[in-house]
Amino acid sequence: MSALAARMTRVRSAMTAHGVDALLLSLGADLPWLTGYEAMPLERLTMFVLPADGDATMVVPRLEAPRVHDDPSVFSVRAWEETEDPYRIVAGLVGRRRSLAVSDRAWAGALLRLQAELPGAHWQVASVLTGPIRAVKDEDEVACLRAASSAADRVAVQLQAGEIPLVGRTEAEVSRDISDRLRAEGHRRVNFAIVGSGPNSASPHHEPGGRVIGPGEMVVCDFGGVLAIEEDAPGYCSDITRTVVTGEPTAEMKELYDVLEDAQARAVAAATTGTACEEVDAAARLPIADAGYGAYFIHRTGHGIGLEEHEDPYVVAGNRTPLRPGHAFSVEPGIYLPGRFGARLEDIVVATPSGPESLNRADHGLAVVA
Ligand code: ZN
Ligand code: ZN
Ligand code: ZN
Repeated sequence: MSALAARMTRVRSAMTAHGVDALLLSLGADLPWLTGYEAMPLERLTMFVLPADGDATMVVPRLEAPRVHDDPSVFSVRAWEETEDPYRIVAGLVGRRRSLAVSDRAWAGALLRLQAELPGAHWQVASVLTGPIRAVKDEDEVACLRAASSAADRVAVQLQAGEIPLVGRTEAEVSRDISDRLRAEGHRRVNFAIVGSGPNSASPHHEPGGRVIGPGEMVVCDFGGVLAIEEDAPGYCSDITRTVVTGEPTAEMKELYDVLEDAQARAVAAATTGTACEEVDAAARLPIADAGYGAYFIHRTGHGIGLEEHEDPYVVAGNRTPLRPGHAFSVEPGIYLPGRFGARLEDIVVATPSGPESLNRADHGLAVVA
């Protein structure tokens, strides 16, 4: 059975378990995950219709149909002409089924039109079905994540080796440099390249701007994008954070960073299968709190990663989901002293039967660069 057919089987059994009669996928990552086809965010409707008790159909605008590589054993294609009403077509495929799940990222306009065509239907978000299944990566997906992480690692190594000049350049210039290097290392797309220097290093999602980086400053660099092993295949995400210092760090910087590095290592070590996500979060939080920085670790420890930069499972207090082999997620504690400086350290980790595997291998220390 192909990987896509195997996913379809798992989705069908989740539909049965949740009493969903038909799954309707439009924009978002569920569609490429299940069908290999990624819809462009157009106003024209693309919708994959998967009835619990029938054959699957991809309803797609005629002009997009050539990009659909269908496997007739998995689904058929219904291309609609410019003069047709695609919502009528979808409603016809849904028929009398009334317990429906729809893409979380479908346009509101599409859902409202479908609701008008399908009165009396009960709607829920598709992620109720797909989220837990997508969170567990198969071998092919782990290979894609590994390739994306390795490419991001190569840029991190360049940063730590001082090959990316920092002092005297603006954060925005460094951000562009990092983005170019991610593409040069094989990324199809760059999703973000955060560069926060000096006091900006204390703002976790700082938007790199015109601030010129000076000597003796902490610089948090958090970057990632999408890399595809095969040209036609959907890409998987990278996401890495390394913090460097432009010149000798102060004793306080060193002390803070040592606490952070220890916390990150403890959280990775805690990420064994069977452990609840919230316990991994707690493993990072405890040493940071013990060192007196508890109030300065202001975000969750991590997020799942795959076709999307942020997806299930979330490594956060309250998430009791036990880790399973194939769960892939970031471990990224940070300590941020407002108005002064901060640091974050992030790797992508996969849970395996033999323990947590870090996909990122770039050095964890506080690199001193120019
Ligand atoms: Zn983030
Ligand atoms: Zn990140
Ligand atoms: Zn992240």
